[in-house]
Amino acid sequence: MGFSVLVTRKLPSSVIAKLEAIAAVDLYTGDTAIPPAELRKRIADKDALVCLLTDTVDASVIDAAPALKIVANVAVGYNNIDVAYATSRSIIVTNTPDVLTESVADFTWALILAITRRVSEGERLVRRGEWKGWALDFMLGSELRGKQLGLVGLGRIGRAVAARAPAFGMHVAYASRRAGDIVGEQMSLDRLLNTSDVVSLHVPLTPETRHLIDKKTIARMKRSAYLVNTARGAIVDEAALAWAMQQRLLAGVALDVYENEPHIHPDLLQLENVLLAPHLGSGTTETRTAMADLAAENVTAVLAGRPALTPVHA
Ligand code: NAP
Repeated sequence: MGFSVLVTRKLPSSVIAKLEAIAAVDLYTGDTAIPPAELRKRIADKDALVCLLTDTVDASVIDAAPALKIVANVAVGYNNIDVAYATSRSIIVTNTPDVLTESVADFTWALILAITRRVSEGERLVRRGEWKGWALDFMLGSELRGKQLGLVGLGRIGRAVAARAPAFGMHVAYASRRAGDIVGEQMSLDRLLNTSDVVSLHVPLTPETRHLIDKKTIARMKRSAYLVNTARGAIVDEAALAWAMQQRLLAGVALDVYENEPHIHPDLLQLENVLLAPHLGSGTTETRTAMADLAAENVTAVLAGRPALTPVHA
């Protein structure tokens, strides 16, 4: 034994117990992300790091940890980690695919339904005491049946979102780098933006997808369309989106993720047809426990000299 693991945020006790069975656990117990200087200090003598998407694991962190063997991210996205640099130092990086797919797909539909049927806007009005009672033409939303759902990215979550579309009578279009095996029409991003009634983003954040949705691409969308982002904030140029929403270039936007979390562009906070969720995509007790457990399983495997269960590559 003799291994030690740094865990950057509280995890379920069953998962901590699993790690304690194989290593000494140094648990950061702060309510917000571990400060970068503290991360660099505490990782110095560690064999493994269990971290969250709020922790930036760059070359300076990796260089501070000469014995580090694995970085286990408790997330499927790993844009917070310099995977290429870790790999160059023979450090394994892992993520948590599959275990969160269904809960993120459910939450994506929660946002699609909530923005098209004005759920949070209506609730705000009720809480302000402004509801005057039922009226035929009051706060009308937009029907989903017969409309086109445009998915940008057709990986695990994109497919799970597509699988739910028939229940709401929507037909699926998708923009993907490879042919998909789902019922739906593959098309260019331009055509998808131009023809979809709801556009939902499911690509990872990479240099190629950063600001994929900006002034130019928003201008290609229908003015009656809705945009939903449960992927990563920086896939959307938030300032451009705030401007477009002020100009009423889209019917509505539902966001779970932001460019600079937990900060949100102040103009978006003012708009009624913008739904703002606090990064809840995978947020069920079952899924978050499964994610933490998979991270611990990856650490256990690597420290025991076995292959990681879910490694990622640069
Ligand atoms: P995944 O299975 O890897 O799917 C991502 C898909 O995006 C892949 O099919 C990939 O295609 C495609 N893609 C990548 N770059 C593209 C591009 N430039 N144009 C078109 N398609 C592109 O990942 P996942 O498990 O579905 O997760 C997707 C993302 O959701 C994660 O990266 C994460 O950022 C986000 N997420 C958010 C939450 C939340 O709490 N809101 C929770 C979980 C995940 P290839 O197969 O060709 O590479």
